[in-house]
Amino acid sequence: MVVEVLACRTGCGACCIAPGITRPFFGMPQGKPPGTPCVHLDAQRRCGLYQDVRRPAVCRTFKPHVDVCGDSAEQALELLNYLESASRPETSL
Ligand code: SF4
Repeated sequence: MVVEVLACRTGCGACCIAPGITRPFFGMPQGKPPGTPCVHLDAQRRCGLYQDVRRPAVCRTFKPHVDVCGDSAEQALELLNYLESASRPETSL
């Protein structure tokens, strides 16, 4: 099996907007609701906590992949929004 791993796309930030983060973390004590930009996403769509130990574990383990990142930031946002809604327990597709 070939697994295609991308380098993170500059100026994207889709993975810091679409997915929800259920656990509280620094700056977002209620966690991050799906579809809401993280408070640490800066104007250039870079993570302000990237080298910080307070960056959530879920962010540190996320790996870019063509299946979720697509060919553009817009496509990544669409794919990740779809996956987020499809993985909600109350959602049946
Ligand atoms: S902490 Fe950084 S990597 Fe995690 S969602 Fe926020 S901006 Fe993105």
